[in-house]
Amino acid sequence: MKKIKVFDVRVDEQAALKQWIDNHEDEVEVVLTEDSLEGEHLSQLDDVDGITISQTTTFDPNHFKVLSDNGIYHIAQRSAGFDMYDLPAANEAGIKISNVPSYSPQSIAEFAVTRTLALVRHTDRIDRNVAVQDFTWDLDVQGRTIESLKVGVLGTGRIGSRVAKIFNGFGAKVFAYDLAPNPDLENVLTYVDSLEALVKDIDVLTLHIPGSPENKYVVNESVLNQAKQGLLVINTARGIVLDTDALIRKLDDGTVAAAALDTYENEGPYFKNDWTNQPLEDPVLSHLLERDDVLISPHVAFYTDEAVQNLVDISLDDVLSYIKTQTADHIVNP
Ligand code: NAD
Repeated sequence: MKKIKVFDVRVDEQAALKQWIDNHEDEVEVVLTEDSLEGEHLSQLDDVDGITISQTTTFDPNHFKVLSDNGIYHIAQRSAGFDMYDLPAANEAGIKISNVPSYSPQSIAEFAVTRTLALVRHTDRIDRNVAVQDFTWDLDVQGRTIESLKVGVLGTGRIGSRVAKIFNGFGAKVFAYDLAPNPDLENVLTYVDSLEALVKDIDVLTLHIPGSPENKYVVNESVLNQAKQGLLVINTARGIVLDTDALIRKLDDGTVAAAALDTYENEGPYFKNDWTNQPLEDPVLSHLLERDDVLISPHVAFYTDEAVQNLVDISLDDVLSYIKTQTADHIVNP
């Protein structure tokens, strides 16, 4: 029987892995390890037919040759990002890399809406008041209905299109700007011709464009200057698309009433790690955490049972496909 080795197994993947293994027990043997593909594992590949890993830092390009020497010509990366691989070096060694380009756009879309609801209905403030037995009603907790809002969606791809549909379901008026408008969405939203036009008359701006170099600080001070007073900004895309310093200035002058940030441009050392009782060395992040008008979450918008199951299923399906047919659906260096 062919054998797959799954490296970098996380606790939260265990149930999803068990499900995939149970569904394929007659076809393939699966070995799990929490370790990364390094050290002694490099000399234990001779009876392995396919691997999947979840590397987050650089992947040593010398390991490509070790894999090909063992007859393994494919790595299934269990994430959307594959920037940790030296693709020319992989090509030279004849190694194909696959990723999981989209594992649950609905999860991210629903989180963006969840955070919008939290800002609009001040749930964070209500919870903080009640925690100190302050049960008063005051203007700070008076909210609005979602159906009364005009929502601006920047980027209507896999995630933004779902955000638009959910807000449309609430009865909100949805506007959008995308470099490539999608005519299929015309029954749920109205496209405008520029980001500046989008921000002019909306209550909520939710960001769903890629964090590519050309999108650095697309949402900047001059864009935010176009907004009417009291805009809510939701970023579940990538930190880099939003100029954080500009956002803070616009929060200070009231143009932006509040923001919910699931991504932050310098999140690298912090998000996903436990910094309890340790000083943060990032004064901007410290400042954001201290503000009452900013909600921070550590890049968890995607993080649902469904997303983890899809990450596992899609990557392992690709490993099995490559073993059987020498190709897979999500090869990034064909
Ligand atoms: P996608 O490629 O399906 O859609 C992106 C859309 O943005 C496309 O329609 C594109 O035409 C448009 N676009 C690109 N640059 C633009 C610009 N400058 N102005 C206007 N439109 C522009 O992407 P997706 O899968 O929907 O992902 C959207 C974002 O969500 C990405 O930044 C991704 O990294 C992020 N994401 C976040 C999480 C999380 O947990 N927070 C998880 C996965 C993805």
